[in-house]
Amino acid sequence: AEEMMIRSEKMSVAGQLAAGIAHEVRNPLTSLKGFLQLLQAGVNRKEEYYKIMIDEIEKMETITSELLFISKPLTDNKQIEKVQEMVVDVITLLQPQAKLKNIEILFEQTGSQTVYCDRSQIKQVLINIVKNAIEAMEEPGNIQLNVLTSEDNILLDVIDGGPGIPEEIIHKLREPFFTTKQSGTGLGLMITTQILERHDGKLEILQNENKGSTFRIILPKQAEK
Ligand code: ADP
Ligand code: MG
Repeated sequence: AEEMMIRSEKMSVAGQLAAGIAHEVRNPLTSLKGFLQLLQAGVNRKEEYYKIMIDEIEKMETITSELLFISKPLTDNKQIEKVQEMVVDVITLLQPQAKLKNIEILFEQTGSQTVYCDRSQIKQVLINIVKNAIEAMEEPGNIQLNVLTSEDNILLDVIDGGPGIPEEIIHKLREPFFTTKQSGTGLGLMITTQILERHDGKLEILQNENKGSTFRIILPKQAEK
C-alpha cells in the first residue's frame, strides 16, 4: 500500500479518511470486477480466482469494521479502572498470537495504579499497540510491558525487540491508512491517537537504545471530571 501515501499537511482528518477509503476500497473492487469478468468468460483457474476474490473481500471487511469502530457514537463510559487489570486482559487475549511466533509478553504485576477511562477503549489502544509489537518482531523474543508513574501521569510502555522505526516515517505512523504491511489497514495508530486524545492522554513513540521501539501510552492519573 506504499503507493497510496496521501500526504498533505492541510488535508483534514475527514478528508484523509475519505481519500483513503476511496482508494482502499476501489482497488479490491477493481480486482473483484476483473476476476468476475474472467469467470464470466469461462476460465478454468476458478479455484485460484475464488481465493483471490475472498482475500480481497476480507480486506474490505477488515477496513470497514475498523472504520465502524471510529464512527461509533462517541459515548464514553468512563470509570476508575485498574491499569494492571486491563493489561492482563489484553495479554490474555493476545497470548495465542504471540505464542505462534515464539514471543513472550512480559509483565510484572506490581503496584495498583488506576486511571479514569473507558475500559474497552483503553483496552483497544493496548491491543492495537501490542499487536503491532507482535507483528514487528522478526524473530522470537520478548515484548515487555511496564506501568510507570510520574507526578501527573500513568505511563504504560510497550517495548518490542523489532527492527525499530525508520526516522523518515515516524511522523506518518498516526496517519490513517499509513501502513508498511502487506495486509495492514494503517488505522490502528490513528484510532489509538483519537482514543487517547479523548482521555486527555497521548502516545509517544520512542526508539530503544539497543533494538526495537517503545510505544508509551500516557494517561492522566485519575483525572476525574
Ligand atoms: P497497521 O498495523 O495496519 O499497519 P497501524 O496504524 O497499527 O497500522 O501502524 C502503522 C505502521 O506503523 C505500521 O504499518 C508499521 O510500519 C509502524 N509500526 C507500528 N508499530 C510498530 C512497531 N512496534 N515497530 C515497528 N513499526 C511499527
Ligand atoms: Mg496495527
